[in-house]
Amino acid sequence: MSKRWDAQRDVAARLASERGTIFREAETRIALCYPSPYRAAMSSLGYQHIYRRLNAIPDVAADRAVRPDDLEAAAGQPWLTLERSQPVASYPLLAFSVAYELELLGLIECLGLASIPALAADRDDRHPLIVAGGPLTFSNPVPLAPYVDVIVMGEGDALAGELVLTARDCGWNRDRLLAALAGRPGYYLPSVHGDTPPPIAAADDELLPARSQILTPDAELADMFMTEAARGCSRGCTYCVMRRSTNGGMRVVPTADVLAGIPAEARRVGLVGAAVTDHPDIRAIVRGVVDGGRQVGISSLRADKLDDELVGLLARGGYRTLTVAADGVSERMRRVVERSTQEKHLVATAALAARHQLTTVKIYMMVGVPTETDADVDELVRFSGELTKLHPKIAYGVAPFVAKRHTPLDGSPFAGIDVVEDRLERLRRGLGVYKGKAIVRPTSARWAWVEYMLAQGDQRAGLAVLDAHAAGGSFAAWKKAFLARGATPTGPRARVPSTAEIIALRRRAPAA
Ligand code: SF4
Repeated sequence: MSKRWDAQRDVAARLASERGTIFREAETRIALCYPSPYRAAMSSLGYQHIYRRLNAIPDVAADRAVRPDDLEAAAGQPWLTLERSQPVASYPLLAFSVAYELELLGLIECLGLASIPALAADRDDRHPLIVAGGPLTFSNPVPLAPYVDVIVMGEGDALAGELVLTARDCGWNRDRLLAALAGRPGYYLPSVHGDTPPPIAAADDELLPARSQILTPDAELADMFMTEAARGCSRGCTYCVMRRSTNGGMRVVPTADVLAGIPAEARRVGLVGAAVTDHPDIRAIVRGVVDGGRQVGISSLRADKLDDELVGLLARGGYRTLTVAADGVSERMRRVVERSTQEKHLVATAALAARHQLTTVKIYMMVGVPTETDADVDELVRFSGELTKLHPKIAYGVAPFVAKRHTPLDGSPFAGIDVVEDRLERLRRGLGVYKGKAIVRPTSARWAWVEYMLAQGDQRAGLAVLDAHAAGGSFAAWKKAFLARGATPTGPRARVPSTAEIIALRRRAPAA
């Protein structure tokens, strides 16, 4: 991006390529903010859903504001909303959607762009209310607490609108709003609850499904109409916040409702949910999409649910890469984390991908899972030989394991940056014998450690984000900031827990 980047021109260019933008006159206007760049924001079904819902409330308008792609170029220029080209700081309420731990940095950057003090304690009645919600609240929103006035916990389908109307009725006054929300379920008020958030909220079934409002070619999922096919998951993988005992299990959107909501002009359709292929009618839904000549995408393919019919439909719907998750690198590790995917399912996936001429099989894995050893990694290297005989391109997306709150593995330490990097290197070296037919695409062990510190941390960890940002944001700055704030629950080189400790951790977790 050029140094001559211009905020107004950027807004105009974004709007010019959008379809479905909502422009409305309303007395009550709030800014709906996303702490990551536009391409990610417009690929977030949750963000689009809340945008649609807020703008459906009489006399309410929600204008979007997204983190600029290039913060350096944007510095010194006003941070503007898309629909109105108004400075975000002029709105009475800013509502942030936060998907995961590292977006806390984006939130701080956005407040800085708007010249709003990052810390709630430094703000007064001259400043807008700052509220947040989003997927992060399913695990650990406590590090967000120093920066916001209110956090909507869990499913915000109904609560987001209720919060805006309550804030308006309170004259956008912070104290009156907090008094009005005190005791109401689903609202985490950091000044009242401290480090102990209330339980997550669940939306009524009639508010499903979430659907896209805006289509744009400038999204990660370019010009894709997203619609929810299922919410939550009925499975019980012990590391996952979407598991049945964390978020109440899976709710299925009726097939007719999924298909009827797809606009005639949508040429690409994304079926979204934690476990879309567990939908009992998934084949009929996919057929309904591709029979209309559309491309299809599914956010979560389960290897044990794929068969010839479904993969054939996906191929007809434009699939080139068949992506599944196995997570544990060996059969033993998959049993440890209670992931039902087995080698036989991955073998079948590779064979189906070859039969339907899909170019790549992508398999998500985790390394650094408690009790994992080098032998587990070696098993994946060996097993890759079987897969490469079936398909010429196997790509592993490998992420370090990060323990999340409200899961049976909550409290498990990070394996250690060195351990994770060693395992990734061992895997990469081992796969070398397959001469490019099986490759690794890893995510950073260092940033996974930062994520871990926030996933397991309290408000001190949250405050460390501000310090790290102020100190330039290098990895050394992050380490120093966590240390200075006393936010080191187990440290980056923590040992792997014993099997007995894992069993004890699982006993402490809610029953599945
Ligand atoms: S990892 Fe996937 S299959 Fe397992 S509980 Fe989570 S969403 Fe369900």
